[in-house]
Amino acid sequence: MAVDLWFTENHTKNARFSMKVDKLIFTKQSEFQRIDIFDSLEFGRVLTLDGYTMLTEKDEYMYHEMIVHVPMCVHPEAENVLVIGGGDGGTVRELARYDSIKNIDLVEIDEDVVTACQKYLPSTASRLDDPRVKKHYEDGLKFIRHHENEYDVIIVDSTDPFGPGEGLFTREFYGNCYRALKEDGIMVNQHESPFYTDTAYAMQRAHERIVQSFPISRVYEVHIPTYPSGHWLFGFASKKYHPYKNVDFKRWERLNLKTRYYNVKLHAASFALPTYVEEMLREVEHNAS
Ligand code: SAM
Repeated sequence: MAVDLWFTENHTKNARFSMKVDKLIFTKQSEFQRIDIFDSLEFGRVLTLDGYTMLTEKDEYMYHEMIVHVPMCVHPEAENVLVIGGGDGGTVRELARYDSIKNIDLVEIDEDVVTACQKYLPSTASRLDDPRVKKHYEDGLKFIRHHENEYDVIIVDSTDPFGPGEGLFTREFYGNCYRALKEDGIMVNQHESPFYTDTAYAMQRAHERIVQSFPISRVYEVHIPTYPSGHWLFGFASKKYHPYKNVDFKRWERLNLKTRYYNVKLHAASFALPTYVEEMLREVEHNAS
């Protein structure tokens, strides 16, 4: 009889999510975190860091398409893009589909994540060797201090606000992202979930800090079945462009990019938030003003 092996993640102290494991593929304690890759029966191959699900083959496209195509549709001519975190390569894979992009700086603190994903998760890491991608193995918080008026789009594809990702949710970091962007730049960030108390607090705190740094700051939602509660948010912060008004959606459609989750109707709709989320955002916007 086969062993009944399950991976379980605590979504809160009192709620858990489990996936039946077929086979453990890779395990390593890096300088920064514990990296595991395993095959699951329901979700395909899975990457976890310190026991938290980063991606599964079955639903990663929802996350990566929404973190990339929303800002890339809004910005009319993004050429220079910075990705902070994102060592699995899913964000870079989506960006690399735009011929208009000339340079992608990928700033990932942990080289071991990149090496492991290139070997065991080729479906997400496939474009990490694109000649336009420059990999920098360092802390995004430090990297961003030395850049000014350089990027069209910054994508913060980070882990949660504890461990190595903590600094990527600070006011200093968001302020430096603002400085590193050109005068019409856009920053999009992994913004946690509004549903459970811990992640809701993190998302409110992030929103309060971003509102203090950027003139335009909105939040949009995405459905990611394997993340806590399945209801996830991204932050859209911008110096000039509104996230969906006056956007040339036809221009994006002419690019003919085939997507599985993102489309231009969903783009605007994803900024329509449930009332309880709007209330949480308003609460901190009020504190920030
Ligand atoms: N989709 C994911 C999620 O929210 O679960 C994030 C995926 S990606 C694997 C996150 C990456 O951010 C990790 O590889 C981690 O090493 C990297 N990271 C964490 N803190 C960082 C920092 N301060 N600077 C640069 N990269 C960082």
